[in-house]
Amino acid sequence: MGLSKLNQLYRQVILDHSQYPHHHGTLKDPTDSVELTNPTCGDVVQLQLVVEEERIKDICFNGNGCTISKASASMMTDVVIGKTIEESFHLIDQFSFLVQGKEVQDSDDLGDAVLLTGVAKFPARIKCATLSWKALEKALAGINKES
Ligand code: ZN
Repeated sequence: MGLSKLNQLYRQVILDHSQYPHHHGTLKDPTDSVELTNPTCGDVVQLQLVVEEERIKDICFNGNGCTISKASASMMTDVVIGKTIEESFHLIDQFSFLVQGKEVQDSDDLGDAVLLTGVAKFPARIKCATLSWKALEKALAGINKES
């Protein structure tokens, strides 16, 4: 497959996530929720979580944002659902390295989010891509403090 074909495929997967986001909406009985904004682009993300025994049992997102921020949130929820808080922190770090163009060791663990590697070339969009991951980090950090 040529590079441009591959890029097209990446773009299609990103668009699909943005148009038909996974785990989008609200949860009935969230244990934690957080909202974060990216003023540079105007993206807003609301995250709701059900965390039990240090594990993300359920996750849902809502809000308004550009294609990248929405797609990234959808990919993030796919990846962290069922993971422990510790595993999630690790994934958040890995994703942050990825979009900064740094080397990532466990890129397979990032699922479709790996397709956002190209964002590294567009510094203005990095904050769009990391918004939902930062929101998750904030929510999980709050939980860690409570226990
Ligand atoms: Zn954005």
